Amino acid sequence: MSRFFLALTLAASSATAQAPATSKTYESVDAVLWTQTSAEYQASTRQVYVAARAALDRALATPSWVATLEGGSYIDPRPMVPAVILDLDETVLDNSAYRAQLAKAGKHFTLESWNAWVAEGRAGLVPGAREFLLYARMRGVWVHYVTNRDCKADDADPTRKNINALGVPGILHCRTDTSDKSPRRNSLVAQYRVLLLIGDDLNDFVTAATTPEARQKQMEQYGALFGDRWFILPNAMYGSWDRFYGDDLAKKLAALKP
Ligand SMILES: [Mg+2]
Repeated sequence: MSRFFLALTLAASSATAQAPATSKTYESVDAVLWTQTSAEYQASTRQVYVAARAALDRALATPSWVATLEGGSYIDPRPMVPAVILDLDETVLDNSAYRAQLAKAGKHFTLESWNAWVAEGRAGLVPGAREFLLYARMRGVWVHYVTNRDCKADDADPTRKNINALGVPGILHCRTDTSDKSPRRNSLVAQYRVLLLIGDDLNDFVTAATTPEARQKQMEQYGALFGDRWFILPNAMYGSWDRFYGDDLAKKLAALKP
């Protein structure tokens, strides 16, 4: 290698190490491609919702059945209205088109571009979600969305309009002064018998721990609930699991276990 090329290589690698957030990235291409084009992604989400539907039937037939950690083990003997709590993004709403825009441009997520996408109101539906949601309503089960989107409850809100246009039922519970979903689950538990939790992120079920090791412990503690009363959709594109690494490729590579 000539001295010139060696200098270029060193400059490029040090730029990567020092300024990953501003450099172009194509790291998410495979994840977005899998979501948008693979039969396997569709099969996975449909499988989750079919299993959730069967669990809903079991839950409705079992008066003591509750899905939330919130509310403790006390079962209110009064008959309460049954409900399910779902996350929105990559659980019911498919935002892979936004992720595809980023991937094609080699860009990272920013709140600005995300808000512009939300304002367009053209997210699609995750395969299998519609059938599940309509079945739940048909069985008299209320549908609540606990989401960290910033939105208003009125019909002019782009998220509300997006959901209405997709023809699926549900009541929105948007981001409050905290992104922690537990307080919102708590207030729903006071009014409903929550039968299932459905999401794509550990935070959709329990306030997730802040290190990969502690999250692994949470899985040891709560893992048996998944597939029983908690149902998780695959999301390889993003999630709280990737926040330990930020947009730093070097950190991501260091976390791999060859
Ligand atoms: Mg989500």
